[in-house]
This record gives sequence, C-alpha cells and structure tokens, in this order.
Amino acid sequence: MSGDCDFGLIGLAVMGENLALNVESRGYKVAVYNRTTSKVDALMEGRAKGKNFVGCHSIEEFVKSVKRPRRLMMLVKAGPAVDALIEQLLPHCEPGDIIIDGGNEYYVHTERRTKQVEEAGMLYVGCGVSGGEEGALKGPSLMPGGSAEAWPHIKEMFQSIAAKVGPNNDIPCCEWLGAGGAGNYVKMVHNGIEYGDMQLICEAYQLLKELGGLSNDELYDVFDEWNRGDLQSYLIEISRDIFSVKDDQGGDGYLVDKIMDVAGAKGTGKWMSQLALDLGVPSTLVTTAVFARGLSAQKEARTRASKTLNGPAESSNPEMRAIAQSLVGDRAEFVEAVRQALYASKIVSYAQGFVQLQAASAEHNWGLDYGAAALLWRGGCIIRAQFLDRIKEAFDADPNLENLLLAKYFEDAVENAQEKWRKVVAIASIMGIPVPAFSTALCYYDGYRMERLPANMLQAQRDYFGAHTYQRVDKEGTFHSEWIQLR
Ligand code: NAP
Repeated sequence: MSGDCDFGLIGLAVMGENLALNVESRGYKVAVYNRTTSKVDALMEGRAKGKNFVGCHSIEEFVKSVKRPRRLMMLVKAGPAVDALIEQLLPHCEPGDIIIDGGNEYYVHTERRTKQVEEAGMLYVGCGVSGGEEGALKGPSLMPGGSAEAWPHIKEMFQSIAAKVGPNNDIPCCEWLGAGGAGNYVKMVHNGIEYGDMQLICEAYQLLKELGGLSNDELYDVFDEWNRGDLQSYLIEISRDIFSVKDDQGGDGYLVDKIMDVAGAKGTGKWMSQLALDLGVPSTLVTTAVFARGLSAQKEARTRASKTLNGPAESSNPEMRAIAQSLVGDRAEFVEAVRQALYASKIVSYAQGFVQLQAASAEHNWGLDYGAAALLWRGGCIIRAQFLDRIKEAFDADPNLENLLLAKYFEDAVENAQEKWRKVVAIASIMGIPVPAFSTALCYYDGYRMERLPANMLQAQRDYFGAHTYQRVDKEGTFHSEWIQLR
C-alpha cells in the first residue's frame, strides 16, 4: 500500500523541518516523521498548518504514506541513528524505493549502507547538505552520491529546492557526484575548505588589527571593500558584519572582542585531514586549520606560557613598534598586501582540496566531476564565493587539470600576489604573529613549484639507518649503499 505523498522526511530538528518546508513550498506533498512524535504534532500545528503535509506517528505509517518509488530522506544525527533508521525502514520499503541520508555522515558509512540497502533491493543516497538551517529552508547546496539509479527519481525535486546561481539565477547547486560515498566526501572537503577559509580570515584579521592597528570600524570597511572584489564570499561578508556588532550584554565596545579565543569543531576538518594522510596528499591548509583550533583550545596552557615565553618583543615596546611601523609601511599598502596574501593562500587551499578529491575519486572509482563540485559550492553553502566560477571554468576547460595552480587564471593570480604574500608572511614572522595558514600555503606553493626538493637527503638518511633503498637520478633501479664512510 502506498499513499499520495511525493516525499518523506524523517528528523524534525532544525535542518529536517526547514528542508521539509522547502520541499513542500515547491509544490510537493510531504510526509514527516520524528522519533519523538510530539515534534511531528508541533510542526503540524505550527509551521506546517494549512500546508500540504502528512504527519506520521510510526515508521510504517510514514513509509506507507509516500508514493512509489518512495523518496524517503533522513536528516538526523549522523552515525548509529542512521543505521537504526535504515533497519526500521527496510522492512516496510519495496524494491526501487530510495532512502536518502542528508546528514553530515562519514563517507565510509555511506559506502557500507549503499551496499546494504542495494542488497535489500532498494536504492541509497548519501547527500551532503550545506547552508545551515536558512539554506535548508531557502535553498541549500546539495551534494548527492550513492546508487546511480536513484538520481533520475530525485533530480527534479532536489534541483528545485537547491540554491540557484548564474546570471539568470537558474543554475541549481545540485548535481549527481558519483557512486557510494562520493556526495559525503565532497561535502567533507567543502567543510575542510571552510576550515581553511575561516583560519585565513582570522589570520588576516589579526595582522590588520595588531600590526596595521585597524579598529573594528576600519576592519568593517576593509572587509566590505574586499567583498566587492576577488575575495567576494559569504565568509568575508559575515566577517565584515561581525565587526559592526556591539556587545549585546550591555558592555562597552564590540561583541567580537568579548568572545573567548577558544575554537570549537565538530570533526569534518579532522576527517578530511585524516583522509589526506591516508591518501598521502598534502592538504596542509585544512590540517593547519584544525591544529590552529586545537592550539586555541589550550587556553590555560597558552595563558601560562604567555607569562614566560618571549616573542621578538612586547608590542608595547617603542623600539618594536617602530620596527613594525617600518615593516608595515603605508597602512593602505599593508591592507592590500594582506588581501593579496589571503587571496593567494585561498587559491592554494582550494587547489589542495581538489587534489584530495582527485585522489579519493581515483581510489574509489567515483569518476567525480570537479567542475560540478565547484558549481555546487557556488551558492547555498558556507564557502560560496564568486571565485568558484573560475574553478568551474578551469575544470570545464580541462577536466583532467592536475592542480588548480596550473590553470592560467590561478597561475597569474598567484604570480601577481606572491611578492606581497611573501612580505606579509615575513613581517608576521619577524613580529611574532602566528600565520600558520598563510605560511603553509606559501610553503606548499614553493614546494610544488620546485623540481628538486631536499628529499634526496631524506632518502639517504632512510637508507643509512634502515636500508630502505633509494632511486638515482641518473640510472634505473633500486639502490642501497654502505653509508659509513670516513672523510
Ligand atoms: P541533529 O541535532 O544533528 O539531530 C537531531 C535529530 O536526530 C532529531 O530529529 C532526533 O530525533 C534525531 N535522532 C537522533 N537520534 C536518533 C535515533 N537514534 N533515531 C531516530 N532519530 C534520531 O539535527 P540537525 O542539526 O537538524 O542536523 C541533522 C543532520 O544534518 C546532522 O547529520 C547534521 O550534521 C547535518 N547538518 C546540520 C547542519 C546545521 O547547520 N545544523 C548543516 C548541515 C548538515 P529526536 O527529536 O527524537 O531526538
């Protein structure tokens, strides 16, 4: 038996409720269910009142109220809750029904569940959803992957609810990404890039505030200006806005200055870092950003260390102030140098993210479309930025592009920015301001463009102590040498 709902949604927390309302607003009839059924009643009597919803109080009722092939989406806490729900759904589903997980799930779980659900005769989709609660309601970025046969059945609906971009605002930020966990992987890399972007912005902020001496009002103007150029993005926009908000607890000054400098994290940056290590790809921006959050969380240790460990000199020291002044030079020029350092570092961060996607796609045979991934991130999500159009163009022009840094547009952009980028990293280092993401990006750029790295010495060391062998630059083969020689 099946009902007349076009779509079913399980999980009525912020994301699920908003996504259900989004789907209904596009002309679909939606069945909803939540483990705590009072939330179903609250929705039906509240935001869904008078709308095309069916509230369900059991999984069986929920499944039966949706048309076949059923499109049943879960937006619940990632992990065991998803496995438990699949177990509950499967006995009521029929061949061809589609179970979709919209949570921030670890892609390996999605690979396993796709197999499990397919073996039971149904289809499975792991769909990254980005854009937070507002995105879910008004147009998220959707990153689906899993059972390919499911895509024709969900394409129209998912593209209708997704964010739209392009000159006519009609290109949906939703495209099929590939088999198994491809969608969740792309979402994870999105989040990892988000970590990098946020850390880079924090470093720019600290440099401008502490070396440039900019006030929050001035920072607002700088970010506003940046948001109209190459750096235009959601994260620059919200950072700008943050500089305008006064303390909401009645104190003097700005709210941002009252916030404890201890960063939280939910784990997707850590996943991306761990997987980069597994793949052997140097995604240094995300790992650096994760570690920077880790160091920020050691607040008590930092407070103790700050009493004993010395930097170049206290910034209150007049001599050091004078040095800083001379290095920073003209303030407008320094602001521009920081902008260029931020832009070049951001290019490296995205280049690394795509290299990781390429490595993962090759390992899992996903056949990822990188231009499509860039397009999905163009709107609706946290890293949305104008700059992603350039990335899409680069992959459209060359789908096998080895590294974004090799695309002419980005090659030129980094070339133009590198003098200022180097200057900013050098000044920060002289003045003792940590810029881990700016500098790791620069090191990656320099390492990547260098034909010969000092790894010859490393191989010699490995062969010396462990007979690990090495290759030679002038002959084929594998060599081992007796290294203990006297001069
Ligand atoms: P959430 O706090 O992650 O999860 C709460 C929902 O999960 C509730 O509906 C809860 O039901 C249900 N749930 C928990 N354990 C369950 C179980 N064992 N069986 C059945 N249902 C269970 O909600 P959220 O913030 O809306 O996020 C939903 C998903 O979207 C998550 O995977 C999250 O990572 C992802 N996501 C969130 C955001 C965001 O901005 N919040 C953005 C993108 C993606 P009860 O009401 O019965 O407890």
